[in-house]
Amino acid sequence: MKDMLLHTCCGPCASAVFPYWTQKGFRIGGLFFNPNIHPFQEWRCRAEGAVQVAEKCGVELLIDGTYDPAAWFAQVRETDERRCLVCIRERLRQTAQQAAKEGYSCFSTTLAVSPYQDHPAIRQAGQQAAELSGVEFVYRDLKNLYNESRRRSREWGIYRQKYCGCLISEWERFRESRTDR
Ligand code: SF4
Repeated sequence: MKDMLLHTCCGPCASAVFPYWTQKGFRIGGLFFNPNIHPFQEWRCRAEGAVQVAEKCGVELLIDGTYDPAAWFAQVRETDERRCLVCIRERLRQTAQQAAKEGYSCFSTTLAVSPYQDHPAIRQAGQQAAELSGVEFVYRDLKNLYNESRRRSREWGIYRQKYCGCLISEWERFRESRTDR
C-alpha cells in the first residue's frame, strides 16, 4: 500500500509541501492535474516547474494532460456555488480517484501552503472527494511554510506564477495596474 498522493498545483508550493510530508514519514507521489490554469503556455510553465521540483525531491510525479478550457468555463458557469470551490473540487476529485486506482491510503494537496487559497473550500472539496472515493483526505494548514516555499523555489530557479490560475484570477490580479490609452 502506498501512502499519500499529493495533488500538485505548481513547483513553488510543492517545494515546501513535498519535503514536509516526507519528513513526517510518508511515502508520497504527486499528481499534476490543473485544467484551471490559463492560458495553455502558463499551464506548461507550471507543469515544468512541478516536474523540476519532483526531481529535486525524488518524488514520482504524474502529469495529467487533460486540458479543456471550454469545459472548465462551462463547469464553473453552470453552478451557483463559489467558483473556487468548484475548481478545487474537480481537481481533488480526480486526485482521489487516482489515489484509489493506485492503492494510496490517503491524499492531500499542495494548495494547503498558500495563504491566497480558499482553505474552507479545500477542506470541503477534499472531504467530498474522500467520501466518493473511499480514500482518506488529509488536511493540514501549511500556510506557515509559505515563506519557505518562496525561498526554496527562488533558490532552485523554479518558475513562479503571478496569479492563481484561471483567466478571472489573472484579471483580478492585474486590473488595478491597467493602463488605458
Ligand atoms: S481563482 Fe484559482 S482556485 Fe479560484 S477558480 Fe480561479 S484558478 Fe480556481
